[in-house]
Order: sequence, then structure tokens, then C-alpha cells
Amino acid sequence: MQSQKFRLFTPGPLNTSAQVRQAAGRDLGSRSPVAIHLSARLREDIVDIAGCDASWSAVPLSGSGTFAVEAMLCSLPAADDHLLIIENGVYSARMVDICRIHAIPHSVLTLPPHQGFDLAQVELALKQTPLVTHIAAVHFETALGVINDIDGLTQLANRYGCQLLIDAISTFGVLPLDYSAPSLSAVALSANKCLHGLPGIAFVLVRKAVLATHVAPRTLSLDLRAQANALDGNGQWRFTPPLQIMLALKQAIDEYRQQGGRRARHRAYSQRMAHLLDGMARLGFTPIIQPQFCAPLIVTLAPNPGIQCEIDKLNDFLFQRGLVIYPTKHWAVNSFRIGVMGELDIQDIDDLLTAFAEFTAQAAPGTLQPNPLSLRPAL
Ligand SMILES: *Cc1c(COP(=O)(O)O)cnc(C)c1O
Repeated sequence: MQSQKFRLFTPGPLNTSAQVRQAAGRDLGSRSPVAIHLSARLREDIVDIAGCDASWSAVPLSGSGTFAVEAMLCSLPAADDHLLIIENGVYSARMVDICRIHAIPHSVLTLPPHQGFDLAQVELALKQTPLVTHIAAVHFETALGVINDIDGLTQLANRYGCQLLIDAISTFGVLPLDYSAPSLSAVALSANKCLHGLPGIAFVLVRKAVLATHVAPRTLSLDLRAQANALDGNGQWRFTPPLQIMLALKQAIDEYRQQGGRRARHRAYSQRMAHLLDGMARLGFTPIIQPQFCAPLIVTLAPNPGIQCEIDKLNDFLFQRGLVIYPTKHWAVNSFRIGVMGELDIQDIDDLLTAFAEFTAQAAPGTLQPNPLSLRPAL
């Protein structure tokens, strides 16, 4: 089978470097000193990238990001605790599903999905639900591309004596959190978002003091305490570790550091996003989320009035060229998402813009379209 190169402008999986993929091409025994050292080193690296101190523990799990969110929600609240889930998008709605399935006592504060949550509404909910011990929320709702004010939420939670459980899967490694805030208890992240590792390993950063409390397990394989105890004890995972994926993550983290770490990656994403938005504006597409709720990770765009653009046809047109974007159906607006995370560069954005220009030109023959070549930056 001919293997085609895909460029993924999606919320994940994301493009990885050739060296990251190559690093996975090796067998290791899980009890070998190399494997034990690799687990320990990755746990330290995650703490280091977060910028938190030794009062935090990075607990790894096999699986995608959702496994980490489920592990966090299942493992940390005790039977008599009560969660408030701030639901303003697909990923926080998933937290509600997890709590329902595991019968974790919770309340849901549903807020509009097209903007970051309103802290005044959260405070009102806390006043109305005095039993709340934990608040669960998502840093960046990747489905529409909406950033939530987690630093503001930590301050509110500090005042109300609540613990925060945060899904930072789409921001970890690029947008920071304040790990010194006493209310922040746990943060879920995964290898294949801004860290550019392969999918298959996820982590929950947890305060060691929280791990030390006793909670009756609701799950075997996703129990963070048991996983942390095993790793802190003999250095081994309880079940088969995803060793090839771990080797790839080590390489991805080395590259992240070589490239300048969080600030450099943030700068690169910001440049890609600015270039993308500039080109898309010239082709007649506008972000549907207000700029103050956007982040340089993924953006939802819709065609301006008068621009011919059938999203399904657009999708097919781009896919045939190895360019992958994701449709979003929202408020009856015909819209789609374009992400700039992963191993992409400005040339990839230009190729996408050129394909968009071709598509809109053939969709509306006779109308004047920008010359695709003019989209390339002058040398
Ligand atoms: C990608 C993502 C997840 C995890 O999704 P998986 O499909 O399990 O990898 C969770 N939350 C957010 C905000 C995400 O962007």
C-alpha cells in the first residue's frame, strides 16, 4: 500500500517528527533497568515541564488523554466528596459522562460553549451548592477552541477551600498553570498534544499529599494511587507499560527542550496561527469565537456571507491532498476547525491556504480569488 503523507490540522492525533517515530522502533523488557530508568526519567520530565515542585507526582498511564481524565476523576474524590463540573464544551461534557458511569457524586454547571466560563457564575454555583469539595474543568476546550481562565478559577477555589481537577490535555507544554495555588490538586495531560509524542501514554500530575489520602478504588487499571505506589516502590508499572511510546516521548521531550521549551513552542504556534488567520481572512473565512477566548492551538472558522463553501466537499477536497481538518457543526453554522499543534511549519500552513484558495475558486467560478502564490511569504 502506498503510504501517503498526511498533514494533520486537527485536535489529535498530531504530526510527529521522523526521529520521534523512529525512537519507537525498539523492543525493551519491562523489568529491564533501561525501562525502569525511562519511567522515572519521564515522570521527572513532566514535573519539570509543568514547572511544579517536588510536592507533585507525575503518574503515567497507558492510553489517550481521556484515560488520564477518567483516572483523575475516579481516583481522587472520596465517596462523600462532591464535584462541581463546569461544562462549557465537549471535553467537560465527557467529564460528566465519566462521573455518571462511576457514580461519583457531582453537580453540573452548564455554561455557553462559545466563550470561556464566567467566574461570577461559578461563584454563584459554589454558593448554591455548599457541599462542593472539588471543581473539575477544562483548560482549553479543543472542540471549538475556547480558553478558560483557570488561574482565576484557582483563586476562587482557594477562597472556597475546593480542590481543582483540571484537564490540561490540549495546553500542557505550551500554556502554563499556577501549580503553587493550594487549590490545584491534579492536572491531566497526554503525550500526543503539545509535547508531540506518539499517542498511547497519558499522565496525571497530582499533589503527593492528595495521593497520600485514602480513597476506596473505583477502578483497577485506572487507579492513580496504586499506579503511583507501584512506580514509587519498585519502579515498575502494574501492567504492561507502553515502552515504545515511552521511548518516543523521551525523544519528543528532548526535541521540545532543544527547540527552546514552552516559550519557543508557544511562539512557533502563535506565528502559525497568525499566518493562518491572515490567509483565511483574505479567502473570506472568519473565526466564530471572540479573540479574547482564542488561543494559538486550534481555531473554528466559518465562511463569510457570500462565500461558497460546502464543508463536506471541502473536507474531501483537502483530504485527497493529504490535508486533514475537522468539521464542526455548531449553532447551525457551517464551520470547521484548523489546528496548528504538532510538527507543522509555515510551509504546511501555506499549502493548506493554497488548497483552500483552489477550492473556493472552483466552488464559485467567475468570482475573483486571490492568487494562491501571493499567499507565500516574500523571501
Ligand atoms: C484531546 C483532548 C482530550 C483527550 O482526547 P483523547 O481522544 O482521549 O486523546 C481531552 N481533553 C481535551 C481538552 C483534549 O483536547
